[in-house]
Amino acid sequence: MKITLLGTGDAPGTPIIGCDCRTCRDARNGGKSNRTRFSVLVETDEGKVLIDTSPDMRQQMLSRGIKHIDAVIWTHGHYDHYTGFGEFHRVQSHVDVYGVTDTLDYILDYVSFLKPRRHDVIPGEPFEIIGLEFTVFEVNHPPVEKAIGVIIREGDRKVVISGDTDNNIPEKSLELIMDPDLFIVDAIIPDDVGFHVKKHMDAKEATEMAEKIRAKEVVMTHLSHYYKPHEEAVATFPLGYDGMEFIF
Ligand SMILES: [Zn+2]
Ligand SMILES: [Zn+2]
Ligand SMILES: [Zn+2]
Repeated sequence: MKITLLGTGDAPGTPIIGCDCRTCRDARNGGKSNRTRFSVLVETDEGKVLIDTSPDMRQQMLSRGIKHIDAVIWTHGHYDHYTGFGEFHRVQSHVDVYGVTDTLDYILDYVSFLKPRRHDVIPGEPFEIIGLEFTVFEVNHPPVEKAIGVIIREGDRKVVISGDTDNNIPEKSLELIMDPDLFIVDAIIPDDVGFHVKKHMDAKEATEMAEKIRAKEVVMTHLSHYYKPHEEAVATFPLGYDGMEFIF
């Protein structure tokens, strides 16, 4: 399988409209600080699955030459994770969409005009798409009641995407996500900015979580402009960037 981080930004993306900080300036100058909103592409010879449909989905598909998506898995119903689905208008209809019932109820109300094919999934119960085994697990992202992360398995390889979450991931989920080859983790801010963001992990918490679940490789995502410009920040943190690929 191949995993591509299509979008590694937090909700407003980087640069933020109207912001002139060093990181946003680096983003405008074409640096890797330029971060579109969250989405991950999972590919095999059998097809392509999107984890979340970023508001920047159209731009992401065009810039990566993606012609067709076989399925979408939504982690939760926050604006920055699903609204790009509308960009399938007159491009693709009847897309297979997966998520927990609460999330599908909420999102499908907004995108019903595209007639997606609904697949309700249950945390801990595996399902197969494009020859891969997917399992969703509950995370903690209040006030969203049922936010999830995603486990992807192919043979003995295992990739875990945390989704948006703080570090109170339920015990049952921790058991499911142990020992991944790759952990793609929400780390919205570095740990030295003097404040904490609720609902997400900072880089320190994300690092501790990665150690707790014995991740072999870690990449941080859902990143805000509070990190230093990318090339400086990567000296300290394993930050992802838009277009970063992992092949297993
Ligand atoms: Zn988010
Ligand atoms: Zn900024
Ligand atoms: Zn969220």
